[in-house]
Parts: sequence; structure tokens; C-alpha cells
Amino acid sequence: MKLTIHSGTNQIGGCITEIESGGYKVFIDFGEQLPGTEVKELSLIVGLTGGDISKSALFITHYHGDHIGKICDTVADLPIYVGKTALDIFKCLETRLTHIPDRKEAEKHKRIVERIETINTFEPLQKIIIGKITVTPLLVDHSAFDAYMFVIEADNKRILHTGDFRGHGFRSKGLMPTLKAYARNIDYIISEGTNIQRTNDKIKTENELQRDFISYFRKYKYNFVLASSTNIDRLFALYHAAKKTSRCFVCDSYQAKILKIVSKNHKQYTKFYDIDFNQTKSPVGRFFELKRQGQNPFSFDGKLKLYLERHGFCMLIRSNEAFKPLLEEYSKLNDTKIYYSMWDGYLDKNKPAFNEILYNFLEPYNVKNMHTSGHADSKTLKAIFETVKPKSGIIPIHTEAPEKFEELFHQQASIIFLRDGEVFDVK
Ligand SMILES: [Zn+2]
Ligand SMILES: [Zn+2]
Repeated sequence: MKLTIHSGTNQIGGCITEIESGGYKVFIDFGEQLPGTEVKELSLIVGLTGGDISKSALFITHYHGDHIGKICDTVADLPIYVGKTALDIFKCLETRLTHIPDRKEAEKHKRIVERIETINTFEPLQKIIIGKITVTPLLVDHSAFDAYMFVIEADNKRILHTGDFRGHGFRSKGLMPTLKAYARNIDYIISEGTNIQRTNDKIKTENELQRDFISYFRKYKYNFVLASSTNIDRLFALYHAAKKTSRCFVCDSYQAKILKIVSKNHKQYTKFYDIDFNQTKSPVGRFFELKRQGQNPFSFDGKLKLYLERHGFCMLIRSNEAFKPLLEEYSKLNDTKIYYSMWDGYLDKNKPAFNEILYNFLEPYNVKNMHTSGHADSKTLKAIFETVKPKSGIIPIHTEAPEKFEELFHQQASIIFLRDGEVFDVK
């Protein structure tokens, strides 16, 4: 068995992993580099972007752009595998992006939507066999829904690829039991290390964050939250926070569509994903979908305005013109609070990922930052290494500081530093 990290040994995002056995190849993730990072030209990767693909497949850990964004750069017939609900959400997101004004970008998203039609889906723990290689997806908690680690098995060797994951989400309770049950006898862990440099910060749990939202919603009547439309557990937490404080929950049709996908596929497993979209049951905490008429911005009028102002609301917003007039109107009131619930790096002029549109949109207002990371802290990384006990080593990826692994985890296993493109013989 041979292992190659084509990209991602010393950067966050854009990781490409290849595992080869007897001519068969499994690739894991093929996404964009994060905005602002130095663009590296990738040379041809046989079995992924060119050459013979008859013995290859690409597995995607989750739908974040840095893991899935380059699927159109694969050879057209290459089989791609993604989690079922993850694919539904990704399709919804990409379909919306085909309508953006930038025509070149819109075209790119159209091609992605076409490619999505050819993608295969899997369920948690469904074993998929690619010739001599077996891949088993393990469901994990991340800021993307329906995200996976993979156990890859061939030549009597077993590798665990962590993808992006964390230990402080609502669904993280399952992490250690899942690893204990299905990640036994592992030789190597290929591990993400996004937060490895944040050794002293205590990371807030999603649960704690939700409690903070609840206390704010009690205090403020008109709550506007700017969060990622695909950070599903955050959005459902906001829905429940609104319901608990008898505030209405308001979002646009695109966001409602995504919430409906998750609700439909998952409410039978947990009430957390059960939204009463028609709100026939309770007079408070009602769900409202804002429907946009053409290019007109959203507005409340008549009975809806009276109702929302009587009960107060939590509204999910996006940095576009449609929401601007509502923000302008309500930001003048003392009863209003605006929250930014995404990574603060997008608003930091000194960070390469700085997003000017987002910054300008929020700039006029007094905004409260309310967020927690989608990635594991070092304590969680240590705990998974101690649980899995990889026999031969840990390979850091998705990190800007791979050397930190040596400092923090040398007692757990030997740390193997690979260079991008280096072929590693798995023995
Ligand atoms: Zn990532
Ligand atoms: Zn991610």
C-alpha cells in the first residue's frame, strides 16, 4: 500500500490524499485552497485528474469548498462518493450559486451542479470496495452536516483519515464510541490539525453557545444572525433557542429549503432536527419563510409585521441587499441585536481570507460575535490518538503547523511528516 498527500501537508484546506494498492486508488477530498492562500499549481494526478481512472474513486469527507470544490477538475467518469444528506445540501447550495451575477463564477457552479448528478452516495458504516481497497465511512461532528472520517483498508493495513471533525459539537458524544467500535487495529492516522496552534484557548461547546443565544434572545426582541447557511447544527440550535424564548424564527426560502432537507432525512432519529414548518401546533416560536418578489428586498408589512413585532424574532440573514432595509430599520431600535456567527477571520483585514463584502455589510452596525470552531482542539486530538492508538504513526494534514504535532503528541505515536506529493510506503 502506498500513501501520498498530494496537497495539504502544511496548509489548511485543499487537502488531497491518495491511497494505492495493487493499482487501485482511493482519493480522499479534492477541494479549493482557502481564499488568500498562495495558489499552488497541481501537476497531473494519475487516476484523479488524468490517465487511467478505471481503478480509482474519490471519496469526499464533507461539503466544505476546501474538500469538494474541485470535483469538476476530475476526469469526467471518475466515481465520486459523498454522504447522502451532505450531497442534497451541497446541491441546494450550488444551485443557488448558479444565479450569482458574476457570470464566470456562475458557470463554474453550473458545471458543479451537473457533476453532482453523477455522484454516488453512502450511508454511515456502509463499506465500499474499490478493487483491493475497502472504505468505511464513520459519521462525525463538524460545522458541515453529514461529515465523515474514513477507515481505509488494504494489504492488511488500516488507515484512519479524520477529515474535519470536533469534540465540542452536539453530535460529538458519538465520537469516542464510534472510534472504539470501528477504528480498531489502526496502523496510521491521517489527522487534521486546524486548531493545533490554539493550545491555551478553551473552545466553547455548541451547547454553551446555544445557551448564550437563549439569554440574548430573552433580552432582545429583534435578533438578526449572520451564520453559514450550511452550518446545520448551529441553525437548528438557533431555531430551538428562538422557540424556547417564544421568538419567531425567520429565514429566506433558500435557507428554508436546506433546513427542510435535513428535517426530512433526520427528524425520525432525533427531535433536534424536527421543525414544525407549518407551525400548526404552537402560537409562539413560529417558523416564517420570507419569500422574495423578484429583486425586491425583504420587508414586513401588515399582519406579519404586527405579529413579528409582538413576539419578537430570530432571523437568519445573509450579506446581500435583500436583507439590508430590514437591518437598517431595526438596527435603530434598542430592542435589536445583530450577531455574527461565523469565523472572525473573514472580518479581519489582516487575514488572507478577509471578505470585503461581508465586512462592508456589517460595518455600519454594532455586531456581537457569537461563534465556536468546527475543528477539534488539541485536547480532543490527543484523546482520539489515545483511543485509536495507531501502531505506526500520525500524519498531520489540514494544518499550518504540522511540527506542533511532534511537540504535543510524540507520546501518543510517532509523527510522520510528509511533503506534498511525496510517496510513502505503508509498511
Ligand atoms: Zn477543511
Ligand atoms: Zn470543513
